[in-house]
Amino acid sequence: MRTRPATHVATDDVVQPFSIERADVRGRLVRLGPALDGVLAGHAYPEAVATLLGELLVVAVASAGALKFQGTLSLQTSSDGPVPLMIAEYRAPGGDEGDTAPARLRGYARFDGPKVAAALQDGPVEHSTMQRLLGKGSLAFTVEPTPGAERYQGVTALEGPSIVESVHAYFRQSEQLDAAIRVDVGGVTRMDGSGRSQWRAGGVLIQRMPGKNYLERNDDEWRRALALVGSSGRFDLLDPTLSARDTLHLLFPEDDLRAFDPVAVEARCRCSRERVDMVLRSFPASEMAEMVVDGEIAVTCEFCHAHYRFVPADLGI
Ligand SMILES: [Zn+2]
Repeated sequence: MRTRPATHVATDDVVQPFSIERADVRGRLVRLGPALDGVLAGHAYPEAVATLLGELLVVAVASAGALKFQGTLSLQTSSDGPVPLMIAEYRAPGGDEGDTAPARLRGYARFDGPKVAAALQDGPVEHSTMQRLLGKGSLAFTVEPTPGAERYQGVTALEGPSIVESVHAYFRQSEQLDAAIRVDVGGVTRMDGSGRSQWRAGGVLIQRMPGKNYLERNDDEWRRALALVGSSGRFDLLDPTLSARDTLHLLFPEDDLRAFDPVAVEARCRCSRERVDMVLRSFPASEMAEMVVDGEIAVTCEFCHAHYRFVPADLGI
């Protein structure tokens, strides 16, 4: 991989891989603006739901590097609360479009509006927003690799007060993954003078490099890096005026940082008429026939709300 000093880095909708050589730490800084807004806007999510889904999306983007894969990483929560399902999906660059194509991000949350409002207002005071909205359940990491590689899935319980806590529990279970993550999600006023607000998010994941036996490992440096990531309030990962470079230097002020080639991220669904056609044809003709309403089968993508309409003749029924 090509490296260069941490001076040429992109600012928004970008993953900035970096390393701190002295501490044997690799990391990924995530900065999402329009890409996050593109995934969250248009779904009429209550603010608390959009924030939780935003956290899951940043975790997906940040973890994708730590889990070493090509293909698609999806994080899915399934639980018994008023937000029973959230999916965040990160598709790594590469494949047909070439390595320089942006990574793609999509996601959605299912929610019951009145129950969300009730849970936020009347939930147990000791429960966090996540505990009130998601309830009890699980978080699954699924890697759909490029053809020829094996599908992988890991599942952990939703634990603690936040998505990030559950992810840390997952990392602890995975023996080879010594990693920590921090995420901030929020709305900020657009820079275009329109006065409208826009979703933004920032995150940083650090990972201890494997391969050294533990006598050679520098525990003090790792703990110091963990403390720097964990310390909050020193700056704002969401600040649209801070470049990724400045954010990294604020996070690790005394370190010899190296930045690797950044990866651009865009909001893009991967649904298509062909895919929907294929899914519909996987049902027996009798079941397809039952889906016909007013002479057509209408399908709406849960991720992007794209509508697809088929008349029975399209599907050979
Ligand atoms: Zn779609």
